[in-house]
Amino acid sequence: MRDKKDTGELERCGGSMSHRGGRYRCEVRQTRGKSICEGVVTLADRIDHAVGQAWIHHITALEPGDPVVIEIARRWLAFADPETQAKKEEAQKALEAAQRRVKKLEDQGDSVAQFVAGHAVSW
Ligand SMILES: [Zn+2]
Repeated sequence: MRDKKDTGELERCGGSMSHRGGRYRCEVRQTRGKSICEGVVTLADRIDHAVGQAWIHHITALEPGDPVVIEIARRWLAFADPETQAKKEEAQKALEAAQRRVKKLEDQGDSVAQFVAGHAVSW
């Protein structure tokens, strides 16, 4: 905490905080000393709860079609139902392999068709 404006009110240094012993502590105070930042210490549970609440408040305020909501839903489904996700990925790989085989057959078919057409002229 710093009193930059000399008003007697302390400002947060804005530095990151480290987690130790169930508490978050100002990392600036830890590494650079009290003269840079008076420091702040708070219970980790209190901050974790506040951040969780802020996140829930933010998410519930989003529109249903918001890209963030869609991405969360996509990841949640993959997380909550990994078996279905794994089956989808397996099916996708099988489909791509089948498409490659079809393409290969088509390419070979073109060669055969060209071969036949080339010989048909001489028949
Ligand atoms: Zn600080």
